[in-house]
Amino acid sequence: MYWTKSLIPTMKETPDGAEIPSHILMLRAGLIAQVMAGAYSYLPLGLRSLHKATAIVREEMNRAGAIELLMSAMCPMSLYEQTGRVEAFGDVLVKAVLPRGGKKVPIVFCPTHEEVITDIVSRFVSSYRQLPVALYQIQTKFRNEERPRFGVLRTSEFIMKDAYSFHTTLESLNETYNKMYEAYSQIFSRCGLPFLPVEAESGPIGGDASHEFMILSKNGEDKIVHCEACGYAANTEKAEIGETAVASLDPATFKGIAELDTPGAHTIEQVCKFLKAKPERLIKTLIYLADGKPVAVLVRGDHDANENKIRKVLGVDKIELADPETIENVTGAPVGFAGPIGMALTISFYADHQVMGVLNAIVGANKAEKHLVNINPGRDFVPDKVADFRNAVAGDACPRCGKTMQIREAIEVGHVFKLGTKYSESLNAKFLDADETLKTIIMGCYGIGVNRIIAGLVETSHDESGIIWPVNLAPYEVVVCPMKVDDERMMTLARKLHDELESRGIDCMVDDRDQRAGVKFKDADLIGFPLRIVIGEKGLASGEIELKWRWEKQSEMLSIDGAVERIAEMLDQERKSGERFRKSRAAT
Ligand code: ATP
Ligand code: MG
Repeated sequence: MYWTKSLIPTMKETPDGAEIPSHILMLRAGLIAQVMAGAYSYLPLGLRSLHKATAIVREEMNRAGAIELLMSAMCPMSLYEQTGRVEAFGDVLVKAVLPRGGKKVPIVFCPTHEEVITDIVSRFVSSYRQLPVALYQIQTKFRNEERPRFGVLRTSEFIMKDAYSFHTTLESLNETYNKMYEAYSQIFSRCGLPFLPVEAESGPIGGDASHEFMILSKNGEDKIVHCEACGYAANTEKAEIGETAVASLDPATFKGIAELDTPGAHTIEQVCKFLKAKPERLIKTLIYLADGKPVAVLVRGDHDANENKIRKVLGVDKIELADPETIENVTGAPVGFAGPIGMALTISFYADHQVMGVLNAIVGANKAEKHLVNINPGRDFVPDKVADFRNAVAGDACPRCGKTMQIREAIEVGHVFKLGTKYSESLNAKFLDADETLKTIIMGCYGIGVNRIIAGLVETSHDESGIIWPVNLAPYEVVVCPMKVDDERMMTLARKLHDELESRGIDCMVDDRDQRAGVKFKDADLIGFPLRIVIGEKGLASGEIELKWRWEKQSEMLSIDGAVERIAEMLDQERKSGERFRKSRAAT
């Protein structure tokens, strides 16, 4: 390709509204252009990288034994009604009503395809002989994200590789799940991403039933818990907490209870400010509906309650924060003043381990605008059960090895999930087993955000000059820069190198713009071509070209004779191993 024939609108300035490196650099390098909030066009260079990521994903899916198909991006709303996901997705679901022959047909632009694929399988699979099967597609998804931001990391329309597997037994599901997990590791390694698989909330099938593939990055919107000592990693919703010492309280230090007026102090922050106390001295009392029945859960003021943990410990199906009316009935006070002592109704209450170590605590008084101080667990209240009810925080003990865990920000690029029978139940996907009985198909689902591979790479691999691509994702692997485009000898050599490299399957861009060297080098670094070849006056005289890797400081001179073979060899090696790229990244 020749620069002057393509469309590469590079920019010097940081574009308005772009805050994080991947967004800024993808716009500045001319990879994408914004259409509206949450929607981007891929310009020629961006599309090439996207296609390369797609090709890697497809290759590894095929290798793992998944079969490609393509489903319609839209489907009748009724499919989503059958699985209850019109409600579950809420405003995120992109809907429309199509006028058709005098009728109105409600449709959905699919945010994911469990419904459509399960419907297909329910129609065409009926016997155990047809199972297991794993099907996938690479296609646009629609989600009306509440706050689309950060460029293509979170958009209203994005490309997902979504795979679904169908099984007669859990063992068979586990086998495919493990293959997918391996394929994902392979995909993200080949893409040069520093990924970390983390345990995620697993839904109906307990145990190790879900993993998210995360890229550690300070601009990530997800928080994960990580133990560097043993490698345990989980998202904060799932993370277990190891045994953390709880201070045993000395009754000699207990003070007498007092009721204080706290006008206008409804939140933890306001109470802390009003009473000049740290949040660790507060105990939050949360009223939940556990399968519809009100219960109270106590956590320390600086901790967040974890609904999944509550649901599991209480052994209920559904847990949700109570509505204001219920809270007022239960506590006898307006929202914001619940506490463990003196509630209007007697309900079960549960406390997190750490609550039991708060000395002379501050709690809501179950009266409007009032709090109690010097409350001591054990003396003043005894919970029905003490357990782990909160999200992990930095410094908590690792559940596996007991060492200290860290909290890190991360970007989710992929997700593998053992679904069980949630969709096959509601869409009636059954099979006749060898014993002639009708059984429900067991499912797994596996997603990758292809755009996030690109954005995640740029986010984690750049310097002050621009993007640093691994050869496997670079829009072009080589940029050839003739220093003077009106020098016919230089242009002849540039064209020759281009044709010979291309004929060996190497993606080559010739910067044939009539521009100063400084401009060409700046743009080459901004876009981040892995290999830069410079054809200059001096080199031409001595029969050499200059070769430089994007991430290395030093360049080397290469004899023009045999240069193409040498470059092809190096690139071939780098495509397979990614070693040079990885070494350079590890050094930063
Ligand atoms: P998130 O928590 O970031 O909203 P999710 O858990 O809802 O993502 P999944 O339903 O698991 O996403 O979708 C599979 C993959 O699709 C995700 O791992 C992610 O890489 C990608 N993805 C999801 N939502 C978006 C989006 N709005 N823009 C770009 N990629 C997305
Ligand atoms: Mg997910």
